[in-house]
Amino acid sequence: MSAQPATGKIIYRHDITPDLSIIRIQPSDGSLVPDFKPGQFITLGLQLEGEEKITNRAYSLASPPEQKQYFELYIKWATEPVPGKFTTALFNMKQGDQLYWRKPAGAFTLEEKRPDGMPDERALVLVASGTGLAPFVAYALHLQATGSKRRIALLHGARNVKELGYRDLFQKMDNIIYLPTVSRPNEPESQGWAGHTGRVESLLVPNGGASELERALGYKVSPDNSFFYICGYQGTIDSVISILQPLGFVSNRNKRKDGSFDVKIETYGQ
Ligand SMILES: Cc1cc2nc3c(=O)[nH]c(=O)nc-3n(C[C@H](O)[C@H](O)[C@H](O)COP(=O)(O)OP(=O)(O)OC[C@H]3O[C@@H](n4cnc5c(N)ncnc54)[C@H](O)[C@@H]3O)c2cc1C
Repeated sequence: MSAQPATGKIIYRHDITPDLSIIRIQPSDGSLVPDFKPGQFITLGLQLEGEEKITNRAYSLASPPEQKQYFELYIKWATEPVPGKFTTALFNMKQGDQLYWRKPAGAFTLEEKRPDGMPDERALVLVASGTGLAPFVAYALHLQATGSKRRIALLHGARNVKELGYRDLFQKMDNIIYLPTVSRPNEPESQGWAGHTGRVESLLVPNGGASELERALGYKVSPDNSFFYICGYQGTIDSVISILQPLGFVSNRNKRKDGSFDVKIETYGQ
Protein backbone atom coordinates (compact mmCIF):
# COMPACT_ATOMS: atom_id res chain seq x y z
CA MET A 1 0.00 0.00 0.00
CA SER A 2 1.33 3.44 -0.90
CA ALA A 3 -0.10 6.52 0.89
CA GLN A 4 0.52 7.03 4.61
CA PRO A 5 -2.35 5.72 6.74
CA ALA A 6 -4.52 8.17 8.68
CA THR A 7 -5.02 7.84 12.42
CA GLY A 8 -8.33 7.29 14.11
CA LYS A 9 -9.65 7.23 17.65
CA ILE A 10 -11.93 4.62 19.17
CA ILE A 11 -14.89 6.71 20.36
CA TYR A 12 -17.28 3.89 21.30
CA ARG A 13 -17.07 0.22 22.04
CA HIS A 14 -20.02 -2.03 22.84
CA ASP A 15 -19.14 -5.59 23.77
CA ILE A 16 -22.08 -7.75 22.68
CA THR A 17 -20.19 -10.74 24.13
CA PRO A 18 -16.58 -10.89 25.43
CA ASP A 19 -15.42 -11.68 21.88
CA LEU A 20 -17.87 -9.76 19.67
CA SER A 21 -17.95 -5.97 19.60
CA ILE A 22 -19.35 -2.96 17.83
CA ILE A 23 -16.59 -0.36 17.57
CA ARG A 24 -16.79 3.21 16.30
CA ILE A 25 -13.73 5.01 14.99
CA GLN A 26 -13.47 8.72 14.27
CA PRO A 27 -10.73 10.36 12.19
CA SER A 28 -8.25 11.83 14.75
CA ASP A 29 -7.84 15.07 12.82
CA GLY A 30 -11.51 15.94 13.34
CA SER A 31 -12.39 15.51 9.66
CA LEU A 32 -15.58 13.86 8.49
CA VAL A 33 -15.60 10.26 7.28
CA PRO A 34 -14.72 10.19 3.55
CA ASP A 35 -17.35 9.22 0.98
CA PHE A 36 -17.77 5.50 0.40
CA LYS A 37 -20.30 2.99 -0.89
CA PRO A 38 -22.28 0.66 1.37
CA GLY A 39 -20.52 -2.72 1.35
CA GLN A 40 -16.98 -1.32 1.32
CA PHE A 41 -14.36 -2.01 3.99
CA ILE A 42 -11.60 -0.05 5.68
CA THR A 43 -8.17 -1.35 6.49
CA LEU A 44 -7.18 -0.90 10.12
CA GLY A 45 -3.54 -0.91 11.17
CA LEU A 46 -1.77 -1.45 14.48
CA GLN A 47 1.88 -1.33 15.40
CA LEU A 48 2.08 -4.61 17.29
CA GLU A 49 4.78 -5.33 19.82
CA GLY A 50 7.76 -7.14 18.32
CA GLU A 51 6.62 -6.40 14.74
CA GLU A 52 8.68 -4.22 12.47
CA LYS A 53 5.82 -3.22 10.17
CA ILE A 54 2.26 -2.13 10.85
CA THR A 55 -0.15 -5.09 10.86
CA ASN A 56 -3.22 -4.41 8.68
CA ARG A 57 -6.62 -6.12 8.52
CA ALA A 58 -9.78 -5.40 6.49
CA TYR A 59 -13.10 -4.69 8.24
CA SER A 60 -16.44 -4.06 6.53
CA LEU A 61 -18.20 -0.83 7.37
CA ALA A 62 -21.48 -1.41 9.21
CA SER A 63 -22.28 2.30 9.20
CA PRO A 64 -23.92 3.73 6.07
CA PRO A 65 -22.25 6.48 4.01
CA GLU A 66 -24.81 8.93 5.42
CA GLN A 67 -23.06 8.63 8.82
CA LYS A 68 -20.20 11.12 8.46
CA GLN A 69 -19.11 11.30 12.13
CA TYR A 70 -17.59 7.83 12.51
CA PHE A 71 -16.98 4.42 10.95
CA GLU A 72 -18.88 1.63 12.69
CA LEU A 73 -17.40 -1.87 12.67
CA TYR A 74 -18.68 -5.26 13.84
CA ILE A 75 -15.70 -7.33 14.88
CA LYS A 76 -15.18 -10.84 16.21
CA TRP A 77 -12.10 -11.68 18.29
CA ALA A 78 -10.50 -14.60 16.46
CA THR A 79 -9.57 -16.98 19.28
CA GLU A 80 -9.57 -20.48 17.75
CA PRO A 81 -7.37 -22.42 17.31
CA VAL A 82 -4.89 -19.70 18.31
CA PRO A 83 -5.54 -16.06 19.26
CA GLY A 84 -5.70 -13.87 16.16
CA LYS A 85 -2.82 -11.44 15.88
CA PHE A 86 -4.76 -8.27 15.15
CA THR A 87 -8.01 -8.89 17.02
CA THR A 88 -6.22 -9.92 20.22
CA ALA A 89 -4.52 -6.52 20.29
CA LEU A 90 -7.74 -4.72 19.25
CA PHE A 91 -9.84 -6.35 21.96
CA ASN A 92 -7.34 -5.04 24.55
CA MET A 93 -7.97 -1.48 23.38
CA LYS A 94 -10.44 0.94 24.89
CA GLN A 95 -12.27 4.15 24.15
CA GLY A 96 -9.79 6.94 23.35
CA ASP A 97 -7.09 4.62 21.97
CA GLN A 98 -5.71 5.32 18.50
CA LEU A 99 -5.07 3.15 15.47
CA TYR A 100 -4.33 3.56 11.78
CA TRP A 101 -6.94 3.36 9.02
CA ARG A 102 -6.87 3.47 5.25
CA LYS A 103 -9.70 4.80 3.13
CA PRO A 104 -12.71 2.64 2.22
CA ALA A 105 -12.34 0.26 -0.70
CA GLY A 106 -13.93 -2.88 -2.13
CA ALA A 107 -16.43 -4.04 -4.73
CA PHE A 108 -19.04 -5.72 -2.50
CA THR A 109 -21.37 -2.83 -3.20
CA LEU A 110 -25.05 -2.59 -4.09
CA GLU A 111 -25.90 -3.35 -7.71
CA GLU A 112 -28.58 -0.83 -8.55
CA LYS A 113 -28.55 -1.24 -12.34
CA ARG A 114 -28.57 -4.12 -14.78
CA PRO A 115 -25.82 -4.32 -17.44
CA ASP A 116 -28.16 -2.56 -19.92
CA GLY A 117 -28.36 0.43 -17.56
CA MET A 118 -31.96 -0.21 -16.50
CA PRO A 119 -32.71 -0.07 -12.75
CA ASP A 120 -32.48 -3.47 -11.06
CA GLU A 121 -35.74 -3.81 -9.17
CA ARG A 122 -35.34 -7.42 -8.04
CA ALA A 123 -35.71 -8.19 -4.32
CA LEU A 124 -32.42 -8.06 -2.40
CA VAL A 125 -31.72 -11.23 -0.45
CA LEU A 126 -28.84 -10.68 1.98
CA VAL A 127 -27.34 -13.86 3.46
CA ALA A 128 -24.78 -13.48 6.26
CA SER A 129 -22.89 -15.73 8.65
CA GLY A 130 -21.26 -14.26 11.76
CA THR A 131 -19.71 -10.83 11.26
CA GLY A 132 -20.49 -11.17 7.54
CA LEU A 133 -23.55 -9.21 8.66
CA ALA A 134 -21.58 -5.93 8.80
CA PRO A 135 -21.96 -4.80 5.16
CA PHE A 136 -25.68 -5.61 5.28
CA VAL A 137 -26.17 -3.29 8.25
CA ALA A 138 -24.77 -0.55 6.00
CA TYR A 139 -27.02 -1.64 3.07
CA ALA A 140 -30.18 -1.68 5.19
CA LEU A 141 -29.49 1.71 6.78
CA HIS A 142 -28.53 3.24 3.43
CA LEU A 143 -31.62 1.90 1.64
CA GLN A 144 -33.78 3.18 4.48
CA ALA A 145 -32.08 6.60 4.39
CA THR A 146 -32.59 6.89 0.63
CA GLY A 147 -36.22 5.71 0.76
CA SER A 148 -35.57 2.72 -1.52
CA LYS A 149 -38.65 0.72 -2.48
CA ARG A 150 -36.73 -2.51 -3.15
CA ARG A 151 -37.83 -5.51 -1.12
CA ILE A 152 -35.11 -6.67 1.27
CA ALA A 153 -34.81 -10.02 3.04
CA LEU A 154 -31.97 -10.35 5.54
CA LEU A 155 -30.93 -13.84 6.62
CA HIS A 156 -28.40 -13.99 9.48
CA GLY A 157 -26.85 -17.11 10.96
CA ALA A 158 -24.92 -17.00 14.22
CA ARG A 159 -23.74 -19.55 16.77
CA ASN A 160 -26.16 -18.48 19.48
CA VAL A 161 -28.77 -15.84 20.17
CA LYS A 162 -26.37 -13.41 21.86
CA GLU A 163 -24.27 -13.41 18.69
CA LEU A 164 -27.22 -12.21 16.59
CA GLY A 165 -25.81 -8.69 16.61
CA TYR A 166 -28.06 -5.83 15.48
CA ARG A 167 -31.16 -7.96 16.17
CA ASP A 168 -32.97 -5.09 17.90
CA LEU A 169 -32.23 -2.77 14.99
CA PHE A 170 -33.49 -5.19 12.33
CA GLN A 171 -36.60 -6.14 14.28
CA LYS A 172 -37.54 -2.47 14.35
CA MET A 173 -36.85 -1.71 10.68
CA ASP A 174 -39.99 -1.87 8.59
CA ASN A 175 -38.16 -1.94 5.24
CA ILE A 176 -36.77 -5.48 5.70
CA ILE A 177 -37.87 -9.05 6.27
CA TYR A 178 -35.48 -10.29 8.99
CA LEU A 179 -34.82 -14.04 9.30
CA PRO A 180 -32.27 -14.88 12.04
CA THR A 181 -31.17 -18.44 12.85
CA VAL A 182 -28.83 -19.99 15.43
CA SER A 183 -26.71 -23.08 14.92
CA ARG A 184 -26.30 -23.84 18.65
CA PRO A 185 -29.78 -23.51 20.16
CA ASN A 186 -28.77 -25.57 23.20
CA GLU A 187 -26.06 -23.18 24.40
CA PRO A 188 -27.05 -21.14 27.50
CA GLU A 189 -26.69 -17.99 25.35
CA SER A 190 -29.62 -19.26 23.25
CA GLN A 191 -31.96 -19.89 26.17
CA GLY A 192 -35.61 -19.21 25.36
CA TRP A 193 -35.04 -19.06 21.61
CA ALA A 194 -38.13 -20.13 19.68
CA GLY A 195 -36.91 -18.97 16.25
CA HIS A 196 -35.14 -20.74 13.41
CA THR A 197 -32.29 -23.13 14.16
CA GLY A 198 -29.49 -24.47 11.97
CA ARG A 199 -27.07 -22.78 9.63
CA VAL A 200 -28.23 -19.82 7.59
CA GLU A 201 -28.26 -21.80 4.33
CA SER A 202 -30.97 -24.07 5.77
CA LEU A 203 -33.41 -21.14 5.33
CA LEU A 204 -32.99 -21.59 1.56
CA VAL A 205 -33.66 -25.32 1.44
CA PRO A 206 -37.22 -26.26 0.38
CA ASN A 207 -39.13 -27.91 3.18
CA GLY A 208 -42.75 -28.83 2.48
CA GLY A 209 -42.66 -27.25 -1.00
CA ALA A 210 -41.03 -23.91 -0.17
CA SER A 211 -38.04 -22.63 1.80
CA GLU A 212 -38.37 -20.38 4.88
CA LEU A 213 -37.18 -17.51 2.69
CA GLU A 214 -39.86 -18.23 0.08
CA ARG A 215 -42.54 -18.48 2.74
CA ALA A 216 -41.46 -15.06 4.06
CA LEU A 217 -41.34 -13.48 0.61
CA GLY A 218 -44.51 -15.19 -0.58
CA TYR A 219 -43.06 -16.47 -3.87
CA LYS A 220 -40.53 -18.88 -5.33
CA VAL A 221 -37.11 -17.28 -5.72
CA SER A 222 -35.60 -17.16 -9.20
CA PRO A 223 -32.99 -15.02 -10.99
CA ASP A 224 -35.93 -13.04 -12.41
CA ASN A 225 -37.17 -11.83 -9.04
CA SER A 226 -34.21 -11.98 -6.62
CA PHE A 227 -30.61 -10.77 -6.35
CA PHE A 228 -28.53 -12.48 -3.65
CA TYR A 229 -25.61 -11.13 -1.65
CA ILE A 230 -23.65 -13.59 0.51
CA CYS A 231 -21.06 -12.54 3.07
CA GLY A 232 -19.17 -14.50 5.71
CA TYR A 233 -17.43 -17.81 6.04
CA GLN A 234 -16.27 -19.70 2.95
CA GLY A 235 -18.50 -22.62 4.03
CA THR A 236 -21.62 -20.41 3.97
CA ILE A 237 -20.77 -19.05 0.55
CA ASP A 238 -20.11 -22.52 -0.91
CA SER A 239 -23.35 -23.93 0.56
CA VAL A 240 -25.55 -21.04 -0.59
CA ILE A 241 -24.04 -21.12 -4.09
CA SER A 242 -24.63 -24.87 -4.31
CA ILE A 243 -28.31 -24.31 -3.47
CA LEU A 244 -28.74 -21.39 -5.89
CA GLN A 245 -26.81 -22.73 -8.89
CA PRO A 246 -29.36 -25.44 -9.82
CA LEU A 247 -32.04 -22.71 -9.79
CA GLY A 248 -30.15 -20.85 -12.55
CA PHE A 249 -28.42 -18.22 -10.39
CA VAL A 250 -25.02 -17.00 -11.59
CA SER A 251 -22.43 -15.31 -9.34
CA ASN A 252 -20.17 -12.32 -9.92
CA ARG A 253 -17.21 -14.72 -10.05
CA ASN A 254 -18.79 -16.46 -13.04
CA LYS A 255 -20.75 -13.84 -15.00
CA ARG A 256 -22.99 -14.51 -18.01
CA LYS A 257 -21.79 -13.48 -21.49
CA ASP A 258 -23.73 -10.21 -21.23
CA GLY A 259 -22.00 -9.40 -17.93
CA SER A 260 -25.09 -10.07 -15.80
CA PHE A 261 -25.14 -11.96 -12.51
CA ASP A 262 -27.55 -12.46 -9.64
CA VAL A 263 -25.30 -13.36 -6.69
CA LYS A 264 -22.52 -11.19 -5.28
CA ILE A 265 -20.16 -12.76 -2.76
CA GLU A 266 -17.61 -11.59 -0.16
CA THR A 267 -15.50 -14.04 1.85
CA TYR A 268 -13.80 -13.20 5.12
CA GLY A 269 -11.29 -15.97 4.54
CA GLN A 270 -12.24 -18.35 7.35
C1 LIG B 1 -13.00 -7.72 2.87
C2 LIG B 1 -12.94 -8.25 4.28
C3 LIG B 1 -13.80 -7.73 5.24
C4 LIG B 1 -13.74 -8.21 6.55
N1 LIG B 1 -14.62 -7.71 7.45
C5 LIG B 1 -14.63 -8.20 8.74
C6 LIG B 1 -15.60 -7.71 9.68
O1 LIG B 1 -16.45 -6.86 9.38
N2 LIG B 1 -15.54 -8.21 10.94
C7 LIG B 1 -14.61 -9.17 11.31
O2 LIG B 1 -14.63 -9.58 12.49
N3 LIG B 1 -13.72 -9.64 10.41
C8 LIG B 1 -13.68 -9.17 9.14
N4 LIG B 1 -12.75 -9.64 8.25
C9 LIG B 1 -11.68 -10.56 8.73
C10 LIG B 1 -10.51 -9.73 9.28
O3 LIG B 1 -9.88 -9.03 8.20
C11 LIG B 1 -9.43 -10.59 9.97
O4 LIG B 1 -9.03 -11.62 9.08
C12 LIG B 1 -9.88 -11.20 11.29
O5 LIG B 1 -10.28 -10.19 12.20
C13 LIG B 1 -8.77 -12.03 11.96
O6 LIG B 1 -7.62 -11.24 12.11
P1 LIG B 1 -6.51 -11.61 13.23
O7 LIG B 1 -5.25 -10.90 12.90
O8 LIG B 1 -7.07 -11.43 14.62
O9 LIG B 1 -6.30 -13.16 13.02
P2 LIG B 1 -5.04 -13.86 12.32
O10 LIG B 1 -3.86 -13.81 13.25
O11 LIG B 1 -4.88 -13.31 10.95
O12 LIG B 1 -5.59 -15.34 12.27
C14 LIG B 1 -6.75 -15.66 11.47
C15 LIG B 1 -7.29 -17.03 11.88
O13 LIG B 1 -6.31 -18.03 11.65
C16 LIG B 1 -6.06 -18.75 12.83
N5 LIG B 1 -4.60 -19.04 12.91
C17 LIG B 1 -3.62 -18.12 13.04
N6 LIG B 1 -2.42 -18.73 13.11
C18 LIG B 1 -2.67 -20.06 13.02
C19 LIG B 1 -1.87 -21.20 13.02
N7 LIG B 1 -0.55 -21.12 13.15
N8 LIG B 1 -2.46 -22.42 12.89
C20 LIG B 1 -3.80 -22.52 12.76
N9 LIG B 1 -4.62 -21.46 12.74
C21 LIG B 1 -4.07 -20.26 12.88
C22 LIG B 1 -6.51 -17.88 13.99
O14 LIG B 1 -6.91 -18.64 15.11
C23 LIG B 1 -7.64 -17.12 13.38
O15 LIG B 1 -8.85 -17.84 13.50
C24 LIG B 1 -12.80 -9.20 6.92
C25 LIG B 1 -11.93 -9.71 5.95
C26 LIG B 1 -12.00 -9.26 4.66
C27 LIG B 1 -11.06 -9.84 3.62
